[in-house]
Amino acid sequence: MKIVIFLGAPGSGKGTIASRLSESDEKLRHVSSGDLLRDAVKRQTTAGVEAEGYMKRGELVPDAIIGQMIGDYVSGIKGECTVLLDGFPRTVAQAEILDGVAGHCGAELTAVVLLEVSDEIIVERIAGRRGCPKCGAGYHIRNIPSRVEGICDVCGTGLVVRKDDNPETVKNRLSVYKEQTVPLIEFYGSRGLVRRIDGAGRIDDIVRMTRQALS
Ligand code: ADP
Ligand code: ZN
Repeated sequence: MKIVIFLGAPGSGKGTIASRLSESDEKLRHVSSGDLLRDAVKRQTTAGVEAEGYMKRGELVPDAIIGQMIGDYVSGIKGECTVLLDGFPRTVAQAEILDGVAGHCGAELTAVVLLEVSDEIIVERIAGRRGCPKCGAGYHIRNIPSRVEGICDVCGTGLVVRKDDNPETVKNRLSVYKEQTVPLIEFYGSRGLVRRIDGAGRIDDIVRMTRQALS
């Protein structure tokens, strides 16, 4: 197994780009820490109940909870594939947990894709973000509109705004990113793993640049 990490601020497009890549190549598996957590909250598992408050406030869920969740998930993946890890690790402690998980599964960390986007664009993107509560498809009112306003193209469900996408929480998530996640750029940079990608352009172009950076 190979592991590619997607690093970037909230709203930088980690999930959009990783899911686009995995749709076009069956060897690529998109794993989103945010989706795993939201699913655990929905099912009200022990981890989900504990994580819920942190997520609402835009804070990081404790390393041990998310570390365990990702560790269990990644160890359960069978067969030759590349895991596109979106949203984990987000702290140096989580990066160390991931090294342990990788060692345990015989997985190799091959690259860290860093999606670079300015704060202004991030605020605009998150303000327009909509999602399908049923199938998880992601939209943006201007950049990725659904065919019928407010309705999921895939399953016809009404689209919603994520609870943590309000301006106050977004501000908090951005400062958490700068304080706790940005140090990972240096952490992985010193291993020669970081591939910087301009995340501000058209999705198709970013997907193409990312694919190139990984080949
Ligand atoms: P975004 O990248 O847009 O902030 P995510 O869906 O990745 O959105 O994460 C949403 C929330 O889930 C985060 O604000 C945080 O509370 C929690 N979360 C996700 N991944 C992690 C992680 N690796 N460590 C701690 N908390 C996490
Ligand atoms: Zn849907």
